[in-house]
Amino acid sequence: MSNELTTRAWVEVDLDALRANLRAVRDRVGPGASLIPMVKADGYGLGAQRVVHALDALQPWGWGVAALSEGLELRAAGVTRPIVVFSPLAPQALAAAVAAELTPCVSDLDTIHVLADEARRHRTTVHFHLEIDTGMGRAGFDWRQAAKWGTEVSAVCGSQLRWAGVYTHFHSADEVPEEPSRVQWERLHDAIAQLPVSTEDLMVHAANSAGVMRWPEFGADAVRPGIFLYGGGIGPRDAGLAEAPRPVAALKARIVLVRDVPPGSTVGYGATHVARAWSRWGTLGIGYGDGYPRALGNRAHAIVRGKRVPVVGRISMDMTVVDLSDVPEAEAGEIATLIGSDGAEEVTLDEVAAAAGTISYEILTGLTQRLPRVERGDGGD
Ligand SMILES: *Cc1c(COP(=O)(O)O)cnc(C)c1O
Repeated sequence: MSNELTTRAWVEVDLDALRANLRAVRDRVGPGASLIPMVKADGYGLGAQRVVHALDALQPWGWGVAALSEGLELRAAGVTRPIVVFSPLAPQALAAAVAAELTPCVSDLDTIHVLADEARRHRTTVHFHLEIDTGMGRAGFDWRQAAKWGTEVSAVCGSQLRWAGVYTHFHSADEVPEEPSRVQWERLHDAIAQLPVSTEDLMVHAANSAGVMRWPEFGADAVRPGIFLYGGGIGPRDAGLAEAPRPVAALKARIVLVRDVPPGSTVGYGATHVARAWSRWGTLGIGYGDGYPRALGNRAHAIVRGKRVPVVGRISMDMTVVDLSDVPEAEAGEIATLIGSDGAEEVTLDEVAAAAGTISYEILTGLTQRLPRVERGDGGD
């Protein structure tokens, strides 16, 4: 464990806010729908085991991951709830998934045949969920052909291979028009109606964070919230789509050097910023090697002593410079907040993502292992 007093930069994870966000999802969708919090990509960069540990008391049905290795990590950590692997698994990954009692998602018949073989070989029962492609286009059986593949799939199933769930994924749930999501929802149900199995026996799910918060009626049997749990917004704020999550991740860096520079001084690669007057510059111990995007050069703000200060010049791999001229009392060793709040000021995750020309997901999952994750929240409640 690194000593916070000497660490140059770190991520704070507010576990109380994380739990509050899952409760908000549960309240929105009602007690009838099972919760499958998405903890892929190491819990959106915040630590999958930490997230699972923090959310387990809210009794989710299971957890969602994207990679075999992510499921194996959780099993090795003693996680016993179902773990659904939502990305298609390569044929050679299926045996390990079965051995670890993960729940694979299938998008083709070949995978189902391999799973049947592996179930026999391991003398176990394999549960799988089946993805229906209703427009996302990256995985899933074609919704238009459900009568055909539905028969073929159920023919392979038996006591050792159980078709446990069916789902789709919205491509535009976080955008203002409702139409695309409603169309996908109808396609899902058109397809399900053609299946030779009863929906009583299938867990039906569709909604990601934006889906569940905007249309709880799309909750079906289960929901798969991700970004909302981690404090990312789920659509254009001014569209008033739904309530905002509580911030979960804060990005902090220490001021490692403060200097007064005369007019004409330049900063960073390419010397893209020039001091117009005498200025006080603070060097922060963070850069794109930590996951603070290089695209933020001359475009972002930090908070120092409760005041917003601009990032000046390009972001280097290890250092970022802010103009401290409006906070001249700031000293080396103090903390700058790059995402999060300090006093009355706040720099939101979504603001940083927009300034970097990306989305909150990419900011969070881009935070590198150089940054220790520090937990906040007492774990109560
Ligand atoms: C990542 C993912 C989600 C969660 O999406 P958010 O937009 O983060 O809520 C849900 N379902 C699937 C299949 C996913 O891959």
